[in-house]
Amino acid sequence: MLLGPPGSGKGTQAARIAAERGWVHLATGDLFRTHLREQSELGRLAKSYIDRGELVPDAVTVDMVRQRLGAIAPATRVVFDGFPRTTAQADALDALLRELGRSLAGVVLLEVPRDELLARIAKRATCANCQTVYNLATNPPRRTRVCDRCGGAVTQRTDESPEVVERRLRVYDTETRPLVDYYRARGVLRAVDGSGTLADVGRRVVGAFA
Ligand code: AMP
Repeated sequence: MLLGPPGSGKGTQAARIAAERGWVHLATGDLFRTHLREQSELGRLAKSYIDRGELVPDAVTVDMVRQRLGAIAPATRVVFDGFPRTTAQADALDALLRELGRSLAGVVLLEVPRDELLARIAKRATCANCQTVYNLATNPPRRTRVCDRCGGAVTQRTDESPEVVERRLRVYDTETRPLVDYYRARGVLRAVDGSGTLADVGRRVVGAFA
């Protein structure tokens, strides 16, 4: 599991690790955005929260994770990104893992100073199709606004205006940060320095997983 505030690199690092090792990258934000694009009922519900930078209710989120996780072969390892985000979700995840005969191997916390988070989010662009994340300054797509991986349109997310980002960071502090102590108390948490280049952080994350 990757834990950390918006812009700390969870999505980028989770995608890299999953691709390298053949694990499944399970990102609740990506799942919500897919529902949004498909205009499903869940997508419409989630949109009202996402647009305000608030969390989608726990019951809805846990249900979506239950469905997704249940469809992954038990032998396949999973990297969680953006889930859990509340202690209620963490408790629900415990129950769900038990139900599925799985266990949590470890939690990596990505620590990044706030001004760097803001700078990264301001430059962040995401593929609307496959959700690959780019930094328009340091890691842009090869063709302007075209995803390297799938050819989809690379755009800035609608929930990344300065006001919404501010709100998301506050929500992280109040709702999600308590998970640091939650997992630290269990002895499964490793904190890594999340600043620096993609490759540097990648090495630290892989080292923490070892
Ligand atoms: P992310 O792509 O992880 O930044 O998530 C984008 C938005 O999706 C968040 O600001 C929330 O509105 C929603 N979201 C993603 N994951 C969760 C979660 N675990 N619990 C509640 N809301 C979530």
